[in-house]
Amino acid sequence: MLGSRSVGKSSLAVQFCDNHFVDSYYPTIEESFSKEFKYRGKEYQLEIQDTAGHDEFSLLNAKYAVGWHGYVIVYSVASKASFEMVPIIRDKILSYSGVDKVPLCIVGNKSDLEQQRTVSTEQGKELAKRLGCAFTEASAKHNDNVISAFQMLVAEIERELNPDSAKTTTSQTQGSGQSWGSWFKGILGNNPNTQGGDSSGGR
Ligand code: GDP
Ligand code: MG
Repeated sequence: MLGSRSVGKSSLAVQFCDNHFVDSYYPTIEESFSKEFKYRGKEYQLEIQDTAGHDEFSLLNAKYAVGWHGYVIVYSVASKASFEMVPIIRDKILSYSGVDKVPLCIVGNKSDLEQQRTVSTEQGKELAKRLGCAFTEASAKHNDNVISAFQMLVAEIERELNPDSAKTTTSQTQGSGQSWGSWFKGILGNNPNTQGGDSSGGR
């Protein structure tokens, strides 16, 4: 879980793993979470690493940038600055990892804050399309699209691991040929309201 401070990384992880919303989560906690997840009939054991957050000045720690099967980069729809950090963080992951693509889901969190919104859904979709990754808006507070965000990430990871067998709704990048290892077991959920791959789905 990467992204600027206070965009809701911890809240999304806690909502997904423990099914509740924490009103004020200690900002520097970097807990890891484990969640059993069933997706398309497969059992996955997800290991989720929360991080304290990143800005232009705090270099993304290599231990968070390398060696994961996939990444969730979170921004807040009420923070343009956090949105602008998304491609910067993604570029750091790529340069640390030395690859040109990683399984990635961008999450525009706090979709419940319609009044304070400064990043449109279209802008989020366009960014994801440009970066060739999955995208959804979500609300950790209302538990909207939280499961589907992780489902989409698992779908991206599956596509990376098995480019031929992972039939998905879109057919963009088929993986860089890099193996993420067979130790990845998988994730899951069911939400019709999200999209994998590029932004061709509708919301
Ligand atoms: P992190 O620094 O990215 O881990 O962000 P936190 O999960 O600690 O959340 C930062 C603040 O935003 C907290 O006050 C949360 O209660 C709040 N927050 C997190 N997710 C949402 C959301 O979906 N909607 C709203 N309205 N507030 C949220
Ligand atoms: Mg946090």
